[in-house]
Amino acid sequence: MDRTGILFVISAPSGAGKTTLCKAVLDKVEGLQFSTSYTTRRPRKGEIEGKDYFFVDEARFKADVAEGAFIEWAEVHGNLYGTSQQQLHRLTSEGVDILLDIDPQGAMNLQKQSEDAVYIYILPPSFDILKKRLLMRGADSPEVVEKRLQKAGDEIRCYHRYQYLIVNEDFEVALENLESIIRAERVKMREKYRAWVEERFIHLL
Ligand code: 5GP
Repeated sequence: MDRTGILFVISAPSGAGKTTLCKAVLDKVEGLQFSTSYTTRRPRKGEIEGKDYFFVDEARFKADVAEGAFIEWAEVHGNLYGTSQQQLHRLTSEGVDILLDIDPQGAMNLQKQSEDAVYIYILPPSFDILKKRLLMRGADSPEVVEKRLQKAGDEIRCYHRYQYLIVNEDFEVALENLESIIRAERVKMREKYRAWVEERFIHLL
């Protein structure tokens, strides 16, 4: 059977709990790997090179863009982020499903090229809660929080371009929903399965 890996694209405004959900589902679901992006942002405490991100400088990033190394890339909060074309193709051709944590600009760019990807959007239960979660992080000044909220508002307007919506109110429920989406998409009838059924069954009938 054609077991080309499936792309699961996940976006969310910051404060929706996306990173924690992604990590938990990667631990839970076999045959699923994280697509490690390239970024010009500085590593945060505890982040591991090659696992969380490949940290590169702007010159290197722009050279990679010019060479067509990224299947999509975008500027987010003043930093550049991109998804390696080569990494995706290598893993999907090995039959590995990929989880991509990318922003809506990147997701829309990917949508233009990769019709077969699955698009999942995560939201907190309300705008008020989103605001509180951003404020609770404590690391940002009120101006930065305001900017992030404005950006979140712009991004949320893209919600209808995604196929699934997960509301992260109860973490366990949200995780179960994400896992269910991945498992259901794996067994969803796809054109590419036709050859397998034809060869093994239809031709023998
Ligand atoms: P952070 O710097 O907090 O890890 O990520 C900031 C934003 O960049 C998040 O919304 C995340 O989804 C997005 N992002 C991470 N990697 C990529 C990527 O390769 N492409 C795009 N378009 N966005 C990314």
